[in-house]
Amino acid sequence: MKVSSTYLAQCDHSLLEIFKSEATVYFHWPFCKNICTFCNFNKYKKPENKLGQDFEKKMETSLIRETQTIFGLTRVKKIKSIYFGGGTPSLAPSTTISRLIQCVKQFANTDEKMEITIECNPSSLNMTRKLEEYFKFGVNRVSVGLQSLDDKKLKILGRDHSSNDGLMMFKQATEIFGTDAVSVDLLFRKPGDTIQSWENELIQILEHKPHHVSLYELTPEKGTRLFRELKSGELTIPNENDTASMYLLALKLLKEYSLERYEISNFAKAGSRAQSLHNMSYWHGTQYIGIGPGAHSRIFPLKANLRESRIQTLDPQSWQDLVERNGHATRLCKQQSRLEILSELLITSLRTIKGTQPNRWNLFQPQYSMNDVFGAAEPLKFFYLDGYLKWGMNGSFQATDKGLNVIDGILPTVLNVLSEYHTRHKFTP
Ligand code: SF4
Repeated sequence: MKVSSTYLAQCDHSLLEIFKSEATVYFHWPFCKNICTFCNFNKYKKPENKLGQDFEKKMETSLIRETQTIFGLTRVKKIKSIYFGGGTPSLAPSTTISRLIQCVKQFANTDEKMEITIECNPSSLNMTRKLEEYFKFGVNRVSVGLQSLDDKKLKILGRDHSSNDGLMMFKQATEIFGTDAVSVDLLFRKPGDTIQSWENELIQILEHKPHHVSLYELTPEKGTRLFRELKSGELTIPNENDTASMYLLALKLLKEYSLERYEISNFAKAGSRAQSLHNMSYWHGTQYIGIGPGAHSRIFPLKANLRESRIQTLDPQSWQDLVERNGHATRLCKQQSRLEILSELLITSLRTIKGTQPNRWNLFQPQYSMNDVFGAAEPLKFFYLDGYLKWGMNGSFQATDKGLNVIDGILPTVLNVLSEYHTRHKFTP
């Protein structure tokens, strides 16, 4: 059967309309009990006592108000997932979590089984009761900030919990939510880590049989206490070669425990339902609405065809004041060019085993295909021939297993090829 290009264009158009009507939501709760030495997220020490309670109450009101305003600016009709991150969202009153879920349901359609995740820190108070309440309110996925099983290292990093607290929380969360619904966050390249100590620590964690692991390399960021401690020589962390060996060792061990990599830092039990749907949507270019201090969004506004990026005001007090005054506290709002959208899509999706999907690409760029750009690109020849990049059966552009290990070294070339092609052919910016 011959399919006309007009028909295809109409299909893409209606798919685009559906795409613009769906989004995920991220809520940022910016407070933590203690500030970890390595952290460069948008976080603040939790305000104490009565002052803290009033502030938290106002946070809830402002989060609801900002949700209402930002939803009103979009064409979103359906929410696919909700994620509570921070900071430490498990420090927020559980009633706030419940009200925010209800608020989203009020403004958009949701599936009964929509994924709702909350990050939980083992240091949060009364966690068993809180986990039970979250479950009752509809939260169905928990990410436990375990980070390490070495108490000395947890202390050096400024964590306010012990390895035992972390394991207790993991166990309780698993009992309440089920094994597929609990993820653990782990850090490697910590001060004092050696390849051997990392191997022992990881095996010890894997013996607890998590179905989902998020594995992060500790990167010293300027402005953090850890950065200063490393600069002064007070602490040391493994060099780049040892860090690469630690990652490869982790890949091997995780595989032995049937945890499959589906993104460079994320591993899920083979055959389980443990993958994070929220993060998958984000990596593959789904629209997302970020609410709260410092939250980021990528949304299609009501009267525009291109996507816009938004960043909310960082400081919680200024954010609250602005929300009270304007209904939202966006500090930066910018329409994205097609080139920016495609670059972001490549940066996030090439880190996954699925790679960049042609249907997603075509929605953002109907003027040329991925194959037009990357199929015969001279600068990528080496990556194809040496087995770093490949094409999937459905026409997706993917990094191989070997390519995923060094994807940060490949991406700059991929992005240059795209930018050069886009500019050379003078396509719509
Ligand atoms: S708990 Fe998380 S957000 Fe808070 S300071 Fe530590 S790493 Fe940063």
